[in-house]
Amino acid sequence: MATAVYPGSFDPITYGHLDIIRRAAEVFDKVIVGVLKNQTKTPLFNFEERVDMIREVVKDYPNVEVVSFHGLLIEFTKQVHADVIVRGIRAVSDFEYELMMAQTNKQLHPDVETMFFATSAKYSFLSSSTVRELAMFDGDITPFVPDYVRQKVYEKIDEHRQTEISGDPASGCQEGSGAD
Ligand code: ADP
Repeated sequence: MATAVYPGSFDPITYGHLDIIRRAAEVFDKVIVGVLKNQTKTPLFNFEERVDMIREVVKDYPNVEVVSFHGLLIEFTKQVHADVIVRGIRAVSDFEYELMMAQTNKQLHPDVETMFFATSAKYSFLSSSTVRELAMFDGDITPFVPDYVRQKVYEKIDEHRQTEISGDPASGCQEGSGAD
C-alpha cells in the first residue's frame, strides 16, 4: 500500500493544490496533506484554520487525510509511514528549490521518494500569495479557490481591517507576505 505525503503551507488552499491532491489520490492508496506549522513568514491563517479549510474541501475524497506538522518534513513522512513525498511544479522557477529539497530528503532517508506532479496548465500561474493579494485589494478570487475558502479569506481580511482600524497591534496579517 503506497502512502504519499503532500506537504505545504496552504495559506490558503487553492484550486491548484486541490488539482494535485485529486490526481495524487488517484495514484496512491492514501494521501496525507501535511500542513506546515513552522513558517518563517507570518501566515494569513493559523494552522488550525488552514487544516479546517482543507478538511472541508477534501471531504469527498475517502483516501485523503489532513494533518498538521512542525519540524522536518522527512521526519513527519517517516512518522506517518509514508513512502512518497508529492510536490507540485508550476514553472522552472519552482524546480531549483524543489530539486534541492528532494535531494536533501533523499540523503536523509533514501527509502522515501519525492514525486513531482506537473501543474495543470490552467493553474500554472496560481499561488496562495496571488489569492491573498487579490483579496486584500478586493479582487475577485472566485476562479481560484472553493466557495468555503473564499468566504474565509474575505472574513479574515475584514477581521484584520477591523483590528487595524481599532489600532490593535496583535494583527498578524502582512500585506504581500512572501511569495509561494
Ligand atoms: P510551500 O510553502 O511548501 O511551497 P505551498 O502551499 O505554496 O507550500 O505549496 C505546496 C505545494 O503545492 C508545492 O509543491 C507547490 O509547488 C504546489 N503548488 C502550489 N500551487 C500550485 C499550482 N497552482 N499548481 C500546482 N502545484 C502547486
